[in-house]
Amino acid sequence: MTDTNIFPQLEIPHTIAAGPGPGNTDERVLARFAGAGLADHMHPDVLRGMVECKHMLREVMGTDNTYTFGVAGTGWSGLDTMFSAVMPGDKVVMFVNGTFSGIDGLTVRMKAATAEELAENSMDPTAASVTIVNVPHGQSVTGEIVEKALAEHKPKWAAMAHWETGSGRINDIQGFSDACEKHGAMGLVDAVSSLGVEDFRINDYPGIHGWASCPQKGICCLPLTYAPVSFTDTYIETLKATGTRTFVHHPILEARHWGILNGEDASVGTYHRTHSAYAVAAFHEALRITLQQTIARRAQDYAFHEGALRAAVTAMGCDVTSNMTSLIVLNLPADMAGREMELVQHCRAQNFGIWPTLSEPVQVRIGILNLLNQAAINDIVSRFGQAMRDLGAEFDQAQVDAALNTHYTQAVAAE
Ligand SMILES: *Cc1c(COP(=O)(O)O)cnc(C)c1O
Repeated sequence: MTDTNIFPQLEIPHTIAAGPGPGNTDERVLARFAGAGLADHMHPDVLRGMVECKHMLREVMGTDNTYTFGVAGTGWSGLDTMFSAVMPGDKVVMFVNGTFSGIDGLTVRMKAATAEELAENSMDPTAASVTIVNVPHGQSVTGEIVEKALAEHKPKWAAMAHWETGSGRINDIQGFSDACEKHGAMGLVDAVSSLGVEDFRINDYPGIHGWASCPQKGICCLPLTYAPVSFTDTYIETLKATGTRTFVHHPILEARHWGILNGEDASVGTYHRTHSAYAVAAFHEALRITLQQTIARRAQDYAFHEGALRAAVTAMGCDVTSNMTSLIVLNLPADMAGREMELVQHCRAQNFGIWPTLSEPVQVRIGILNLLNQAAINDIVSRFGQAMRDLGAEFDQAQVDAALNTHYTQAVAAE
């Protein structure tokens, strides 16, 4: 008799992770994950590892904010922690230009809604104190848009995504920070897609008081680890004054385990929840790799290889509408319009993991997270080109090859 409740061991294939995320995890990170011993969450080396991660994270994020640490979980875990300071009735202006800032907007509405507003439509509340400024898909949030809205509404909080991964658009954090400072709003930024990909230092944006990122994109540490967050003292004082109704995602409480107590660095952390030695070891290695390669170098490499991919798909007749460097978002040639999902599914069926957009309009997204070499880009281009041909596209392969060759030869010549 077979026991129908026991399934065979789960086999998950290796795919080419050529989407917006998760990114390809470095072998060194996986080795640290699998190689860590089982030590409890109060073991001195685990606690030391967390304190070291905190210091490395400050360097990766470019900040001396004491409240800089990792929140166990995914990008949304870090974002939920950051938005925990938004309390019912708080005045917030949220800028939305795609799928992810749209979900940030939902988070803000859930947090800022009064009890009555939440009960009215609990899964998608409207909050009178929240203004959502919608910027069309494919466009960036500009400093002027932010300036105008903050001048009009004078909110307590303003929030947006730095890089909107849904449409592949970079939003103007300089303009956002300036407008926040000018109008006395505390800026909150979803930096899930930009951290570890773009060369920026959060210290340079004094109008922004809360930042949240993720483990799986620019930090390349998928084995479910830590979402980096950073908060200014002003944010922490504001939070302390109002309180917030969460234990696990409470920024002040979550920081304790990383050795941040009463606004200061302590030599070791105190218990908040059970941390995994495997996750700490993996995160520690991912941060070491980032600092060894340097943020500046990685940012250059992303910009360079994105340029090659962009040139190749343009030569296939696609129209690229994004300006992020870890991801391109494109429209198919006119005669293939409407077949985006079919194309994406065809690629995914061959373990070539590209993505569609998750909200209208339907476009194709191809990412290069941690795929920063010519061989990887050539492979993506040839797989994508083959999939296009399988669906009947006609383009001149010689032009595609020439676009790639020109891009890579010029770079060699420039070195
Ligand atoms: C990926 C992403 C998220 C969500 O991150 P998870 O790790 O899936 O929780 C949020 N915001 C932006 C801008 C993202 O790109």
